[in-house]
Amino acid sequence: MRKIGVLTSGGDSPGMNAAVMSVARSAAMYGIPLIGIKRGYNGLLRKSANLKDDMQELTLELVLDIADDPGTYLRTARCLEFKEKKYQEKAVKTLKSMQIDGLVVIGGDGSFRGAQALCDLGVPCIGIPGTIDNDLPYTEMSLGYDTAVNVCVEAIRKIRATSRSHDRPAVVEVMGRHCGDIALTAAVSTGSEIVVVPEVPWTVEGVAMQLQRQLDRGNYRATIVVAEGCWESMAPFDLYNFLTSRGKPCYPEEPMSAVRFASVMKRMCGMVEARANVIGYVQRGAEPTARDSAFAFEAGNLAVRLLRDGISNQVIGMQKGKVFYMPIEKALKKERYFNRPLFDLVNSL
Ligand code: ATP
Repeated sequence: MRKIGVLTSGGDSPGMNAAVMSVARSAAMYGIPLIGIKRGYNGLLRKSANLKDDMQELTLELVLDIADDPGTYLRTARCLEFKEKKYQEKAVKTLKSMQIDGLVVIGGDGSFRGAQALCDLGVPCIGIPGTIDNDLPYTEMSLGYDTAVNVCVEAIRKIRATSRSHDRPAVVEVMGRHCGDIALTAAVSTGSEIVVVPEVPWTVEGVAMQLQRQLDRGNYRATIVVAEGCWESMAPFDLYNFLTSRGKPCYPEEPMSAVRFASVMKRMCGMVEARANVIGYVQRGAEPTARDSAFAFEAGNLAVRLLRDGISNQVIGMQKGKVFYMPIEKALKKERYFNRPLFDLVNSL
């Protein structure tokens, strides 16, 4: 193996830098030069005028101190044209010209599909799961999920403290476009009363009834945790008809959001106040937890060892507390499990 390349792709996630650091230390130990590729697959398409803006040799000196840093030192970006074969072939040419004989791809399922395409064109690749959503079914852990959940838990605890002081419900939007794992785990860990996820069909009326049940029991400070993808998976809802049929005033329709949802809950349940909180980017830009950093450390080393030993076309994951690897193709075919019993438990208590 003359040189190894490493890139981060898709959304950034805490722990990506720790994984790059581990790849760099391992490559240095095995005497293999390491090239960092910038902005996901874009760096391989040589879009910049300067080679330095697309690629950079990652010396130990450069990466030793980045492990705890949030974000990704290599930058990340979507690269939609990389789905097309002609661009994948261009990337192979770049890799060959740079004498890069193996590639470590840190990202989510889309990034792994890119890695699979390169493998099919003869480039040995290893994937490290880096996505806060936890939407990779083959592994119990992906870099950033544990950190994101912990950020949400810390924020929700603070929000609940103020909700309690003022006897006022709160809506908290967390990340998760197609996957409600962050919302569910954060809700369970904070004792939040209601959770809404994209995996389970829902209606505004249904959540209003759940909230009303809490109010009727004397709980005026319930927390509703909502995954961001829920605004798209929501059943059609006509607030105007709903409220006017009950003789209440109504504002014109606008797209659903955490702020509007809180306002709708307030009006439907006749409360004085219900506050919306969107946790947003702090979930992705946080420093990695020890759990994420430790996984990154092991995964980075295993990725380099596999490439050195001529094993490729694999993704690394965690199963029953142990780091393992399996073929990319097989990993991408696994079906995702959503913990529906836990979801039902939260919403029924
Ligand atoms: P996250 O979901 O956390 O953002 P991800 O890796 O799933 O991570 P995507 O935006 O789906 O994020 O994919 C990242 C990049 O991977 C894309 O911009 C593209 O460059 C590449 N990619 C995605 N799908 C494919 C595919 N089918 N074939 C080749 N490359 C792909």
